[in-house]
Amino acid sequence: MNIKQKIYCPNCGRTAEKHQCSETSIIRTSCPECDYLLVQDFQTGRVIEAYAPGINFAGINFTPAEIEMRAVAHKQH
Ligand SMILES: [Zn+2]
Repeated sequence: MNIKQKIYCPNCGRTAEKHQCSETSIIRTSCPECDYLLVQDFQTGRVIEAYAPGINFAGINFTPAEIEMRAVAHKQH
């Protein structure tokens, strides 16, 4: 099952989409406006794939706080 959520793009601030697959624990954030892409495993916090035009890739390695909180909440259960 996929959960789809509207979020603000961390790159350009416009409307982006977050897809979460409950079977694989993969979160995929993509922005049609600026081609931002982040694919992350929320259980481990590991970034599988990341792409953001105009952003230094070193800056992509930080975990978006929202996803990090989720991962922590998951481990506590
Ligand atoms: Zn964007």
